[in-house]
Formats: sequence, C-alpha cells, structure tokens
Amino acid sequence: MKVLGVDIGGTKVRLGVVDDSMNVELDYKVPTAFPLYDLLEKEVLKIIDEHPDVEAIGIGTHGFVDSKNGRIVYATELLPGWTGTEVKAQLGKVTGLRVEVDNDANCAALAEAKIGAAKEYDRTVCLTLGTGLGGGVIIDDFLLSGGPNGGAAELGHMTLYPGGVECPCGRRGCFEQYVSGSALRRRIEEAGLPYTPEELFTADDAGAKKLIREFTYDLAVVISSLQATFDMEVVVIGGGVSEASDYWMEGLMEQLKPMLLNDLDIKIAQFKNDAGMFGAAQLVL
Ligand SMILES: [Zn+2]
Repeated sequence: MKVLGVDIGGTKVRLGVVDDSMNVELDYKVPTAFPLYDLLEKEVLKIIDEHPDVEAIGIGTHGFVDSKNGRIVYATELLPGWTGTEVKAQLGKVTGLRVEVDNDANCAALAEAKIGAAKEYDRTVCLTLGTGLGGGVIIDDFLLSGGPNGGAAELGHMTLYPGGVECPCGRRGCFEQYVSGSALRRRIEEAGLPYTPEELFTADDAGAKKLIREFTYDLAVVISSLQATFDMEVVVIGGGVSEASDYWMEGLMEQLKPMLLNDLDIKIAQFKNDAGMFGAAQLVL
C-alpha cells in the first residue's frame, strides 16, 4: 500500500509518498504559503495525479487538531488562517481518498512507536524537547489524541511549578517553560552563563553543571509524573536537546531512579527531521 504523508510546519510543508515498509518514492518540500489550505490541496492533487496508486493521505500539522473530524481547532499565528479549517472533509472530498489529520508531535510519536526507537514496545510516551515540549502517547497501539478541543496529550502544558514562569498558553509554570530547548536558553540567561544550549553540555564549570542538574531534575519529575498516569514501558526523548544526551543521560537516570514506581526504559528518538512525514504516513498505514 502506498500513502502520502504530509508534514505541515511554520516554514515548510513536506510531502512524501511511502509504502508500508517506509520505502520513500517521493519526498519534497515547498515553502509554507497562505492560504495554506489552497497550497495543500494544489500540492496533494498534483502528487496523486502523478502517483495514482496512493491510497490514503496522512497529515501532521502544527496546532491543536480534532483528529476524529480532521479539523484544526487552533493554530497559532505561525499558520494564519489555519484555525477552523476542515482539512479531512475538504481534502477527502476533492481527492476521494481517506484523509487523517493529527498534531505534529503526535505524528512524531507515532513514527517512533511504530517504526523507530520504540518499535519493540507497546506502551510509549514521547517527549520532543524543541522550541516547546511536544508530547505523544501511544498505549497498546492506540494514539491518545484529538478530542473536540484537540488538547489530549499536550504534555508540555501540565503544571510543574504552580505560579512559575508564564507560558503562551496563558497559565504559569508549565513543563515546557522548564523542559525544552527554549526553556534551557532562558535558564542559561538567568544564570548569567555565557553559553548557547549546545555549548552548555560540554562546558566544564560549576555553573553549567548545576544548571544541567536542575534541568535533568525537572525532566525526571516530568517523566515520573507521566509514569503514574500512563505506566508506559519506554520514554522516547527527541528534539534538539536529545542530541546532547551523551552529556546528560547518566545524570537524568540517577535522579529519575528514586522517583519511579517501576522500571522504565529511556531511549533517544531515532528520527530527526523525518519524524513528522513518516508519522503522518503512519496515520493511514
Ligand atoms: Zn502552557
């Protein structure tokens, strides 16, 4: 079976034709342009015209998605005009194909759970530490997603420190304000350290080591809370921060162990930029 996987982000839209074994037949990007739906429809129609054996379309997008109805509940100003778009209904009608839509973090998690770092496990939680903290939960092959508000598995907005740092979601103290690439940048600045997040992990001074320890402590709290909710077998950590895991994994495990209810595996994500497109394809495979 061949499907089209589409990964929609703030700067580019990536489209790939893949089969069940993730052989890539076509893979290309176009700059994100508006109206976004018009761009999407045009590109999709072009591809299925050239690849008439494509049987279904999976779409991963930035924003909150009502995955049951394939509707964009809310997208930030990163994708103006995207909020409210009935992607599944509209694209399904013009193509005559099955269309599924989900949030990009959920798609990335699906890619890791089905064909990536967690493919040997049934119960997976993914944390993507990038600009924000993206979350994805797959329990016994079921992707926890959607809801009328599109807000399920928004793990980055669970509260870590009540009354803490303000979050764009309008509340305070969310996980993603402490555990994400952007959060790390802020914490470095507040500590008055002269490093970028990349430099921090290799820096050999007490201030850097203290900050890394505070960071991995918060990450450990996040993981232990998630274990109490989901009793997952594995946590997959992705995003920019995961690339420096050689420098923080040991510290994390040391802090995490006493906080866990049961043993838990921690893995680093297998896919980097490909997770979104492969995960979108997995929505319909
Ligand atoms: Zn928040």
